[in-house]
Amino acid sequence: MYQTIIIGGGPSGLMAAAASSAHDDSVLLLEKKKGLGRKLKISGGGRCNVTNRLPYEEIIKNIPGNGKFLYSPFSIFDNESIINFFESRGVKLKEEDHGRMFPVSNKAQDVVNTLITTLKENHVEVKEESIVESVNYTNQNTFTVTLNNQTIFESKTLIIATGGTSVPQTGSTGDGYKFAKTLGHSITELFPTEVPIKSAEPFIKDKRLKGLSLKDVGLSVLKKNQKKRITHQMDMLFTHFGISGPAALRCSQFVYKEQKNQKKQEIEMQIDAFPNLSVADLEKTIRDMLKAAPDKYVKNSLHGLIEERYLQFLIDQAEIDENLTSHHISNAQINRLVTLFKAFTFKVNGTLPIDKAFVTGGGVSLKEIHPKSMMSKIIPGLFLCGEVLDIHGYTGGYNITSALVTGHVAGLSAQSFTSEI
Ligand SMILES: Cc1cc2nc3c(=O)[nH]c(=O)nc-3n(C[C@H](O)[C@H](O)[C@H](O)COP(=O)(O)OP(=O)(O)OC[C@H]3O[C@@H](n4cnc5c(N)ncnc54)[C@H](O)[C@@H]3O)c2cc1C
Repeated sequence: MYQTIIIGGGPSGLMAAAASSAHDDSVLLLEKKKGLGRKLKISGGGRCNVTNRLPYEEIIKNIPGNGKFLYSPFSIFDNESIINFFESRGVKLKEEDHGRMFPVSNKAQDVVNTLITTLKENHVEVKEESIVESVNYTNQNTFTVTLNNQTIFESKTLIIATGGTSVPQTGSTGDGYKFAKTLGHSITELFPTEVPIKSAEPFIKDKRLKGLSLKDVGLSVLKKNQKKRITHQMDMLFTHFGISGPAALRCSQFVYKEQKNQKKQEIEMQIDAFPNLSVADLEKTIRDMLKAAPDKYVKNSLHGLIEERYLQFLIDQAEIDENLTSHHISNAQINRLVTLFKAFTFKVNGTLPIDKAFVTGGGVSLKEIHPKSMMSKIIPGLFLCGEVLDIHGYTGGYNITSALVTGHVAGLSAQSFTSEI
């Protein structure tokens, strides 16, 4: 009989194992795949965006899926604790834009190795290629965990750290939802977040803008009344099927939600190519540029204003003849151009599916979890942590932070729960 069994060797399970074994309790970690932390290794483009150094309030804002739930676990173990955990074990971290923290080595493997070394030091028993098929709770305060080869393990506490259902080739196939359900928990609706967005607009279908990246634009998802539901000011990318890049990934969950609200597949999005300029200032800039080169074609006068392909695209959208010279442009045409630069509106028809998403939205209902311990309110001794919970953040280290923080708290609580019984 183990004191604690942890199902899942991602960041939440590894951190839970590290915390629950700190006092040499017998801990078993079961991982479906060969190799631990597979998703962690590919996060942050293989560099592992291990946490984020922004203040709490900012971190919570960047976790639109129930970020506020994390205030309690943060009071026990927070982003600075994560930084200390790795730096005190020899992995120097560096801060990049938007507070994102990476290992100085730029190697995700260093982060994974540190967790593995800690588990070894704490004598955690790790069994890879061990697929948990079912879990059970008996009246004698014992959990039984059965593998697909029918091997059975028993423990006093159980931690479910099986992740979401995105990128299933990493091992995260959503098994934890099934286990949690068996043990009496409810699962909120699952949906893709941080995922590219699809569009059937002719300019997407004819691949006219494919590969074009727009820097620091304001990308919005529009409500039925044309008001903005959400705007993210970041880079975006046109692809052969729609849009991607940081701004699009962040908007994706709101595309899903607006589709539901508006009860239709096609909804509208908008690009403000100059989010830091007012309409009046942009119009003045454009008029000045046109005036400065009156005999050039409009496109040539506006050269350098924005990426060339987007400029030509919007000139076409404004129905301005390519042979029109700048001093012949009408006020109406200038106004059309300014409107398109500030608010180019286009239709999108959904996102790529959940298995292509970076993160799974929805999960085990937080109403059934004690935020200070991550223990189930339904079964004492059962703990849940990481992406299997109904918590989802933007990319930028927020999901990994949530996984490591909830994992640590779950591990710590499982250890102290164990010693109490
Ligand atoms: C390409 C990519 C890039 C990302 N980049 C970022 C980023 O920059 N910033 C950020 O914050 N987040 C990022 N994420 C998200 C982040 O990696 C996850 O939110 C995080 O890994 C979740 O941790 P977890 O421990 O809860 O689950 P996971 O990392 O999914 O780990 C769950 C583990 O449980 C195991 N498991 C599942 N079922 C069973 C079973 N039945 N038996 C045994 N084991 C099982 C799985 O094999 C897996 O190893 C990225 C995700 C992807 C896919």
